[in-house]
Formats: sequence, structure tokens, C-alpha cells
Amino acid sequence: MRQEEKFKLEIQKKIAEIDFRQHIGASLVNLESRRKDSLSCFNNLELAKLRAAYTKWKVNENLDKFLIDFEGSIVRKGGKVIWAYDISNAQNEVLQIIQKQKAEKIIRSKSILAEEIELDSFLNSKGINHHLADVSDYILKQTKKTPYNFITPTIEDSFSDVKNKLNQSIRVSLDADENEMLSDIKEELRSEFFHADLAITGANFLIADSGLVAISEDSGAARLSFAFAKTHIVLAGIDQIIPGLNELDLFLSLYSTHSKGKVLQSFSTITGPRERDDFDGPTEFIVILIDNGRSEVLASQDQRQALSCIDCGACNNVCPVYKTIGGNQTYLQHQSGPIGQVIQPLKAGLDNFGFLSNHTTFCGKCTEVCPVNIDIHNHLLRNRRDFVNQGFASKGDKLAWYSWNKLMLSRKNLNRQTTLRNFTFKSFFKKDWGEEREFPKIVEKTFNQIWREQKGL
Ligand code: SF4
Repeated sequence: MRQEEKFKLEIQKKIAEIDFRQHIGASLVNLESRRKDSLSCFNNLELAKLRAAYTKWKVNENLDKFLIDFEGSIVRKGGKVIWAYDISNAQNEVLQIIQKQKAEKIIRSKSILAEEIELDSFLNSKGINHHLADVSDYILKQTKKTPYNFITPTIEDSFSDVKNKLNQSIRVSLDADENEMLSDIKEELRSEFFHADLAITGANFLIADSGLVAISEDSGAARLSFAFAKTHIVLAGIDQIIPGLNELDLFLSLYSTHSKGKVLQSFSTITGPRERDDFDGPTEFIVILIDNGRSEVLASQDQRQALSCIDCGACNNVCPVYKTIGGNQTYLQHQSGPIGQVIQPLKAGLDNFGFLSNHTTFCGKCTEVCPVNIDIHNHLLRNRRDFVNQGFASKGDKLAWYSWNKLMLSRKNLNRQTTLRNFTFKSFFKKDWGEEREFPKIVEKTFNQIWREQKGL
């Protein structure tokens, strides 16, 4: 089945689930209101966003230089950088490290790149057992779900649903409140941290001038994962670079406020492998820098701004389409919502994923909230333009829009009988509307008739 057909089927399923939509809608509204409240910590938010956007622009324009600087800084401290061109390249690099280190107890904390390269299923297919350090990943495993999105992976299920499922697997009490349930899960996870010999984490920011890796997290799971392990692998995208430590406070503040509505979320900065006087920390420190289509985005001069994304998810929470049709599963990828609709067609090809850019209202709310001022809705328009210019629009689509254009520009056609107008409307849109919802009917009178009546003409 083509990607577009899969996407439309998922949409039709999601929009028919009224309870699901109400639950997700309320949760996203709550998240958005926390984001707005937390913004009062900025003296001048617009200036902060401008500074962040300018810094990211500078990085994108000189990415080769910043990446080499980062690699040099890591190597000087005894760490290693591996460059991975695509998903299978990145998966195999992780596998080789595990095999070389003869690692038996592997722990992985939350990482958007691990999702992108489908690391869990790859390691399982190779018979490599690994533990998940993060509470949300643990819940997803127990409930047999995939992440709804990166910031709030378990948002799809209500607290009582999760509790019921965990009651069956790890005997969480049905009377437990949220804190008690979390503490039961953490108890389950704790021993895995102490015995891990290899840790895999993600990264939020890679700092070019000092070779530091910054991870922003609520739970401390990433920090605990690599505290005891002998080997630490960091999975990062080549677009996660910032120039120096001076910029880290700005980016961490923008990330915390825009992702979880927190003034400052706890974070760890990793300096490299253990040094002679250190009590703990890994002896092997390896950063895998993953491209996986990012160079394609960089190559497009008028679209490369999309690489500035810091994965805060704020654009999702305000998007009327995202709120209605669901998360990663609907969007068929790990990065859903407006920025996913911009980036995925650029990374994986307009021919396969160009259709994603059509599913938007162009309200511009995504652009308004983006902390790094990405012009998201205009990038969607550019994708549409390139999709048509590169000849990917189907003959059926071209014919449909040609006819629609003719119809809408003709007063005579618009004034035709309602039954005829309803028939035409249905012929264009009924298939995409789906079977589950009642198809809307066009009003009896045309705009032209109403206007004439009101003016007494
Ligand atoms: S595009 Fe902007 S708002 Fe959306 S996830 Fe990226 S940084 Fe956040």
C-alpha cells in the first residue's frame, strides 16, 4: 500500500474515535497552557527567539566546520565520533560496538534518534536483549504501544488505563496515585542501571567548541544509565550542533519552556570518557553522528532552515490538524505534526512523502510558537510547489484541480441547483472524508442568492 493511502486510513480511524480526540485535545490544550505560563521567565521572548534563530542559521550555513570542531573536541578528550550515513549504517555501528565490547547488559534511555533508526526492533532482531531506562518507554513496552510523539510519548492512554495494564504486568496497585505508580516503575527499573555495562542515550545539543553533549530530561534516567556503564554510546543527528557553551543556556531555556512548559528542566552535560581522577563514568565514549537525509535538507537552500528544529514539539500542540488526526503512528514516522510534514518529504523524498505537506490549514500557528522562528507554514507551501514542479502530482489530481478551478471561477456553475452542487462536492471529497463521518451538505441557497436577497436586488 502506498504511504499516502496508509496515512489516509490512519486519519479516518482516528477522526472516528471521538473519546480519543477529546482526551488528546484536552491534554494538548493543557500542555499549551503550561507553555504559555512558563514564557513569563523571559524578559524578552522575541529577542531570545531571534538570537536562537540567528545562531541556528549560522550553524546551518557552516555545518561542516562546526561538525569537524565537535569531532576534534571529542577526540582530544579521548572519545570517538562515528559518522553514520543512514539508518542501516547507524544500526550496524551500534551492533559492532556491542559485539566488540562483549556487552551483555545494555540499557537505552529516551532518544529520538533511537526511534528514528528503529534501534529497538533492530537489536531484538539480532537477539540482543536490552533494557529501557525511561519510565515512558517502560510503560509503552508494557502496554505494547509505540510513542505518540517524542515529548509526551504516553499521552494517548489515560492514567487509569496505564494503571490497569501495569497492574497485570508488575502488580501496580489499582489504588495507586500517579506518584506511587511512578515509584513502582522506578523500583522495577533501578537494578538495571547498576548492572548495565553499555548505555545508549540520545542528546539534545552537541556543543562544537568544547565537545560537550547536553541532555535535557525530567527523570535522570539518561544520567543514571551512563553513570555505571563502561561504554556510553550517544546517538545524535548532525543538526543538533550549537556553537559553544555560551549558547547552551538560551537553547535549554527555550527547549524546557516550549516542550514541557517548565522554566528549566534538569539537564546533564557529558564531558567525555572518565578521566584519571574521576570516580565513575564510562571508559569508552562514542558519539554516532547520524545524517539520514539531513544533508538533503541542507542542500536545499530555501528549506535548510528546517534543520534548526530543536524537537520541542510546540508546533504540534497548537496544530488543528495534529490535534484531530493523531501522532507518530498516523504520520508514519517518528517526527509528527507540522515540522514532520516539512522535513520528512525533504529527507525521504517528495515522491514518497510529498503528500504530507497537503494536510494543513495554513493557519500559521506553528510558525508563531516556534522558539527558533522556523517559517513552518511557508516551508509546507514550498514543498507543495516543488512537488508539483518536479512532476509528482498525479493525473487524477491535476484533472480534479483543473475542474475545481473551472467550477469555482464560474458564477453560472456556482448558481446551479443544490443537488448538482452537492453531487460535485461529494465526487471531489467523499473518498477522503471517509465512511465513518457524515458528509456535510451544501446550504440550499448560494452566496449569490443570499447577497441579492439581503441587498433587495
Ligand atoms: S519546528 Fe519549532 S516548534 Fe516545531 S518542534 Fe521544531 S523547534 Fe519546536
